[in-house]
Amino acid sequence: MQFLMHGLDNNNKAQSLKRLQDMGIRGIVSGFDEEAIALAAEQGMKAYVCTHAFTAEGQFGENPYLAEDVHGQKHVWFNSACPNHPEIQKDHLRRIDTWSRTPGVSGIYVDGARFSSPCSSADFRSFFTCFCPHCAEKAAALGFDFERMQHDVQRLLSVFEGRESLPLVNNLPYGGVDLLVLLNALPGVGDWLRFRAQSIAEHMADAAATLRAADPDAVLGMYIFSPSIAPWVGQDYSQLRQHVDVFAPMIYRSLQAGEGPACLNKETSRLGRELVNHDVMTDENAVAFLQTLTGFPLSEYATVVEVDRELPVAAVQMETQRARNLLGSRHPLLPIIQLDDDGLAQSTAAALAGGADGVNFFVYMAERLPLLQKVLNQQLRRES
Ligand SMILES: [Zn+2]
Repeated sequence: MQFLMHGLDNNNKAQSLKRLQDMGIRGIVSGFDEEAIALAAEQGMKAYVCTHAFTAEGQFGENPYLAEDVHGQKHVWFNSACPNHPEIQKDHLRRIDTWSRTPGVSGIYVDGARFSSPCSSADFRSFFTCFCPHCAEKAAALGFDFERMQHDVQRLLSVFEGRESLPLVNNLPYGGVDLLVLLNALPGVGDWLRFRAQSIAEHMADAAATLRAADPDAVLGMYIFSPSIAPWVGQDYSQLRQHVDVFAPMIYRSLQAGEGPACLNKETSRLGRELVNHDVMTDENAVAFLQTLTGFPLSEYATVVEVDRELPVAAVQMETQRARNLLGSRHPLLPIIQLDDDGLAQSTAAALAGGADGVNFFVYMAERLPLLQKVLNQQLRRES
């Protein structure tokens, strides 16, 4: 069983690493920090560097690099730009190459290797990207009908904005979302999701090749969306498992910070919130829609706001089990769960019961360490 921590105390690096190690934490994942890497290596801990794949930092924040929505509007999403821009991809590979060659680095965890999601920006339309010239070129190269894709994704956006009605929700709340009817009516939406997935799989193949060339022993990890929402953002577990070694689905069930990109509670509830706010459906039906979409037991939930606040612990086990089913037994599965989860012990146990090989905790907080210590003691005792 392997436990990792995302981040450390930047003011007391050596001390916090020692404390984590004494608790049974085997390694840390953090931004590129040579001092922390050296200290971790010195005391026999693993140090993984987290990269932000398609960063919109510096010149990449300028319009030509940004993602474009289905109506031609530019967006920065999750502080990221267009996932298919060749210069942005090259910059990410360059960072993987440099950082993985640094002594003491055990591997790379790629974050943000995806397209925009419902919660990647305050502007919901950032989700309906990317239709920039680079993506048009890429879509043509992959054999997609870009115009059909664009046309149908425009119509999907119209549904969410209440301007067009499609059989998305006819049978609610009695069960059954007419997704097959929807995909038949809008085949370009299916193309869009497959286009996203193929683009990301190609980039992760490049990332893996870059890493292997720099250090054949280094591990390629990925902070990835939970299985029930991963297909929206172009993260296809079955394609990615050909390139990625370790999978860390972000199964945050009650994270509250900001928009909440990647947080399961935030991302799922945002879809419902948009539909309710645009009078596409009632709150009750929106909850039923989310339950049908994810399979989470939401029958006790009356409103989308409650879903936004917190998902049941059962969701952690379900998502871990889904990831395990998609990956098979060969790939290490280390879900990342929030350290400030009110039910930290239950969520940790749920991830392990779902087939995880360990847990990665997000994010280092000194005041949560006494509780974490108890949780780890319990799990490590059970193992021995
Ligand atoms: Zn693009």
